Amino acid sequence: MHSKVVSASLIIVGSGPAGHTAAIYAARANLEPVLFEGMLAGGVAPGGQLTTTSEVENFPGFPAGITGMELTDKLREQSERFGTHIITETITRVDLSARPFKLWREDADSDANEPDTCDALIIATGATAKRLGIAGEDQYWQRGMSACAVCDGAAPIFRNKPLVVIGGGDSACEEATFLTKYASHVYIAVRRDAFRASQIMARRAENHPKITVMWNTHVIEAKGDGSVLTHVVLQDANTKETRSLDASGLFYAIGHTPNTAFLNGQLDTDETGYLVVKPGTSLTNVAGVFAAGDVHDKHYRQAITAAGSGCMSALDAEKYLENLAAEEHERAVAGGKL
Ligand code: FAD
Ligand code: NAP
Repeated sequence: MHSKVVSASLIIVGSGPAGHTAAIYAARANLEPVLFEGMLAGGVAPGGQLTTTSEVENFPGFPAGITGMELTDKLREQSERFGTHIITETITRVDLSARPFKLWREDADSDANEPDTCDALIIATGATAKRLGIAGEDQYWQRGMSACAVCDGAAPIFRNKPLVVIGGGDSACEEATFLTKYASHVYIAVRRDAFRASQIMARRAENHPKITVMWNTHVIEAKGDGSVLTHVVLQDANTKETRSLDASGLFYAIGHTPNTAFLNGQLDTDETGYLVVKPGTSLTNVAGVFAAGDVHDKHYRQAITAAGSGCMSALDAEKYLENLAAEEHERAVAGGKL
């Protein structure tokens, strides 16, 4: 049973730092935003990716650090404090062909059901780190395994320990280089015999004295002591031989999937599915639809950058709605209705 269908001036889809920052700004501008926070959208709890991590140490304003759950709770609380109407449901379909834009919720995704509608829409649905689904992954995720070296790499369990990064792109090279600050040694497991990464990032990693690149190598299992990760099982891609390697950390850097499938191609994306915005703004190719956070940012992917772009999207939406109201007023005057 879902709550009553809404007709709002602004709807925000997504509940990470981007969505909530957009909501805080929009609510303070009296736009009375409605925010769909998702019901385990993409398998992630309302609040977004930060709900999947323990300590967040780099979000300004929290000098002693803050847990991911606490930070998302505070963002939500601040949204509500200014009057954001939060709905715990997932949007599974939209129609952006005309204003008002139409949105359908998961349980009501049928033409027979009345959609929610809005004049302006902010997409802040984030991205989901790809996982491999290897044996041991469920048991040791966040117990030595992570998809964000920059976020989790400084944790005590990784200090002066051997660590493994999986992937051959810029992220893998960057994260491996970053981890050398903490690790005794870093291994990069690359599934084929070449990096996908740019020359400069690849050379930096390859030439680092604390990094060993393992070519043609798959990580096929994560093993531990029942509590934390202690080693991984590697397989040679050519010979299929397997071996064990001591590792207290295993970091996936095999790419992210932006949560844009529900848009069904109605907004421009790049070749990997990330929303495209007009540079320096949050404007998508559809007037009145804005993008914020990781759903359009495959480069920085941090809570603070997501929050910053959430702010931009709310200011852009506010301006758009103001112009819309002014145009409607002019039309009404010209038509003799005022
Ligand atoms: P997300 O956080 O991805 O949130 C979007 C959320 O919107 C989804 O999770 C879901 O709940 C909801 N949603 C999605 N689709 C729909 C839909 N169709 N309908 C309704 N709701 C929907 N960054 C840092 O700065 N510091 C850190 O320490 C840090 N640690 C991290 C640790 C981990 C394990 C991970 C994975 C990431 C970490 N990051 C960290 C990165 C940071 O979490 C992200 O950059 C940030 O959360 C992106 O925010 P966002 O608002 O764009 O989207
Ligand atoms: P990416 O470029 O898509 O690279 C993903 C890597 O993971 C590839 O090497 C891929 O191998 C590997 N991979 C994918 N699936 C795998 C699997 N199942 N098992 C093992 N390996 C797997 O992703 P990214 O590195 O996250 O980069 C994304 C974008 O951000 C890129 O445009 C990148 O340039 C940019 N970026 C830039 C910087 C920077 O400039 N500082 C830093 C980070 C990211 P294959 O090569 O065999 O497909």
